[in-house]
Amino acid sequence: MSVSVVTARPSPTGGRRIQALPDTLVSQIAAGEVIERPASVVRELIDNALDAGARLVVLRLAAGGVRGIVVEDDGNGIAADQLGLALQRHATSKIASLSDLESVATMGFRGEALAAIASVSDLSLVSRTADAAHAWRLDAGSGELQPAARGVGTTVEVRELFFSTPARRKFLKTDATEAAHALEAVRRHALARPDVGFAVWHDGRLVTQWRAASLEQRWADVLGPEFTAASRPLLAQRGPLTLHGRVGLPEAARSRSDLQYVFVNGRFVRDRLLGHAMRSAYEDQLHGSRQPAYALLVTISPELVDVNVHPTKIEVRFRDGGAVHQALRIAVQAALAPSGAHADPGPEASAPSSAPNVPVMGSAIPAAAPAWTQAEQTVVPWGSVPVQTTPRGSGGLAAWETLRRGPEGPAVDAPSPAAHAPEDWPLGRAIAQIGGIYVLAENRQGLVIVDMHAAHERIVYERLKAAQADPDAAIPSQPLLLPQSFAATAAEVATAEAEQEALQALGLDLSTLSSATLVVRSRPAALPDADLVELVRAVLADLAESGGSRVVQRARDELLATMACYGAVRANRRLSLPEMDALLRDMEATERADTCNHGRPTWRQVTLKELDTLFLRGR
Ligand code: ADP
Ligand code: MG
Repeated sequence: MSVSVVTARPSPTGGRRIQALPDTLVSQIAAGEVIERPASVVRELIDNALDAGARLVVLRLAAGGVRGIVVEDDGNGIAADQLGLALQRHATSKIASLSDLESVATMGFRGEALAAIASVSDLSLVSRTADAAHAWRLDAGSGELQPAARGVGTTVEVRELFFSTPARRKFLKTDATEAAHALEAVRRHALARPDVGFAVWHDGRLVTQWRAASLEQRWADVLGPEFTAASRPLLAQRGPLTLHGRVGLPEAARSRSDLQYVFVNGRFVRDRLLGHAMRSAYEDQLHGSRQPAYALLVTISPELVDVNVHPTKIEVRFRDGGAVHQALRIAVQAALAPSGAHADPGPEASAPSSAPNVPVMGSAIPAAAPAWTQAEQTVVPWGSVPVQTTPRGSGGLAAWETLRRGPEGPAVDAPSPAAHAPEDWPLGRAIAQIGGIYVLAENRQGLVIVDMHAAHERIVYERLKAAQADPDAAIPSQPLLLPQSFAATAAEVATAEAEQEALQALGLDLSTLSSATLVVRSRPAALPDADLVELVRAVLADLAESGGSRVVQRARDELLATMACYGAVRANRRLSLPEMDALLRDMEATERADTCNHGRPTWRQVTLKELDTLFLRGR
């Protein structure tokens, strides 16, 4: 095909002629947005198969999909007289009017995927509807229509992707990498559609196969047993919004964000708003760049979300983004909040997990949605379990007492532990300290091992947070002896100028030196050791993403976390038994006490059964 038609030719007036672009070129431009690599083709073709009601989708790749991508489905097929239309740009069977746009529930409806793919590859369609005597094959290049053989459904064959646009082909990675991306595209579909079977072949070899299954089974098949074991179920509903899925425990966080799946009305998205809500749900429990694992289905009335704002439909726009953000954050925090100790069944209950401190939540994701409020209640630490703290002033606890109180506020008074027998304390009764680090305690289930620094750090942090009287006051700042300048992007400079107030509140004095240089003149007094430029960049990025107020709150939390780390009891300090007990009671009373601020676990349970196994003792 020729693209010379758009080559600029001077007109008699010296300007350029305005001319309509040829259709193929328009499709190629669209393809540039939608079709990045074989995986994009796979995504679009599986979208179509699912829209056609397929129960089984088979993908065959040749050379990572660069040589060939074939998607076969058993959906309702395309009638012979419609095959040509399917390949036309803006031809779709999925919407007919603007009002349909509002409520479309299919995977996509831009009506340009097939046209775009056909414009950058050698494409043919083989399809048969239920009432047809046989299938038909349409070759997109030649337009030739021929009888063909296959059952009801559609096969789309895509060969030599980007053969006409070698520049794009150069950007493709190795076959193995492209195949991995394509497989990831199938995983996303497979997670959202457990009722559909999927098979993937690469160069004649079966790579993966998922049979139609329950949602729970499919997720276990696709995400693996480690994720299932180290995650908690989440189910919440608020008005037109339902959230359903599993969220990974902080201690199972990863260095890569490769296990983060969010689906909006069945479509996989990587949405900034949702991503931000997830990060803020974990922010207290995860350090720096650790990435939580999660899979979530977000269901919302179609008219409250626009899924068609992005060419690849990977971003969405919610009518009330703020409400969705808040609902998601609260639901995830609620799912993570119940302490393992608290959630553990008593000794009478069925045998707990094999791995210590991995809460066994009913692995089944409940089918019916409980009230939203129910989920919200679990945000409250320890729920209705009696909170036990050591009575004030009991012997030898001065150090703990000072720490238990916030910098200004008094300690929370709690019922006397005397009301409960030590065996009933979730974290048990302290019996020893070993290695200068670990506190050992005995509870009904067996042995509890506590990392005292990690545990105390969390306690101090939560206390500082609770005690902070005025969250609106500025963080104390300290002028720098030598102002520090650094190269900044245009976006960073713009944010610095627009967010002066928020920056001041964070204890940061930042001004513009040039269009590409910023200078810091003061820093938060509490963070003398932080890498200032890194801190400022992170703050600017956050400000740009979410606007002032929330960031201030988060930076505050980070400051508090740093202070907590300095304030917490250090390793190698000898503790008396009453001191250890006080620590355990404080942990029980503290929200999110299961992990320290860096996401490490603070305690582990070793059950009597596990001890028995260790000693080969059958009970
Ligand atoms: P869109 O999916 O946005 O409608 P496409 O270009 O992807 O646009 O597909 C155009 C049309 O071709 C679809 O609307 C549908 O009618 C038909 N079609 C495409 N793939 C299939 C398939 N696998 N089974 C049945 N019909 C299909
Ligand atoms: Mg489509």
